[in-house]
Amino acid sequence: MATLIDTTRAHRHPEKRNRPDTEVLRKPDWLRVKAPGSKGYLETRNIVKSKGLVTVCEEAACPNIGECWTIRHATMMIMGDTCTRACAFCNVITGQPQALDPTEPQRVADAVAEMGLAHVVITSVDRDDLDDGGSAHFAAVVRAIRATSPVTTVEILTPDFLRKPVAAAEEIIDARPDVFNHNLETVPRLYLKIRPGARYYHSLRLLERVKERDPAQFTKSGLMVGLGETKEEVMQVMDDMRSAGVDFLTIGQYLQPTRKHAPIDRFWTPDEFKALEAIAYAKGFLMVSASPLTRSSHHAGEDFARLRAAREAQVRSAPAATV
Ligand code: SF4
Repeated sequence: MATLIDTTRAHRHPEKRNRPDTEVLRKPDWLRVKAPGSKGYLETRNIVKSKGLVTVCEEAACPNIGECWTIRHATMMIMGDTCTRACAFCNVITGQPQALDPTEPQRVADAVAEMGLAHVVITSVDRDDLDDGGSAHFAAVVRAIRATSPVTTVEILTPDFLRKPVAAAEEIIDARPDVFNHNLETVPRLYLKIRPGARYYHSLRLLERVKERDPAQFTKSGLMVGLGETKEEVMQVMDDMRSAGVDFLTIGQYLQPTRKHAPIDRFWTPDEFKALEAIAYAKGFLMVSASPLTRSSHHAGEDFARLRAAREAQVRSAPAATV
């Protein structure tokens, strides 16, 4: 069933302008959310605006913004609002980005302190235009938050650093975020259609590299479903992630930002998400969040506490080493 044409966001994607319109499916009830507008939401918005920050919550048109901003949970997007990739699922603006702002690391750190965040998630646009993909800047943001808010735990959601020197990703790993997240987004068969600028095995290798270099760092990755993947393909990706040592898996329903974006193949039901969650736990993930509205950073603070507790329980139950 078709719904209204979304023309408000189409101008953000010049590279998609000449694509044929696709039908936008009407959302089922389980994906309907309340319009944002609470007191906490407005306070979070004021802080974000007054510090001149960009959030992925707004740029990606996330359906959870009302809920998250009410409890002051905003995911900041660094290195500008313009991405050098043009993924078929993503609502972030595509184009030629601005120069990096050297004041950004401290501005982000100040906002984290002002919001009194116990846990913060930082993500970024892809910066293929920069020699290091922006890794030095990303690492500087992590260090500035650590210096300004030493007890805040830091989760990062990074680009893939494809075709950048190996040292680029390593610089961020060495800044020692608590959680290193890089989303695989979809199954390998759909990469050329959905994530044409990325390579599945490169992304998987990045996650593996984090564990090799700093085994104490939690790794996290996410998938969207509803793009035409099969359950078997999702299960294969779970196995690939476990082989790369990924601790935490998120799975959510893909929502189509405009008629020019990849169409929704189908809506997975809440019961199907529950089944995926059970399978993922059986495959050995420490933490799994799988639901229609799951996003990488949704409930990230509570999930981090559970992730840490799950690792401690695993260590306690491990058989003692013999000499
Ligand atoms: S789920 Fe993440 S991106 Fe969406 S509103 Fe919440 S913090 Fe922002």
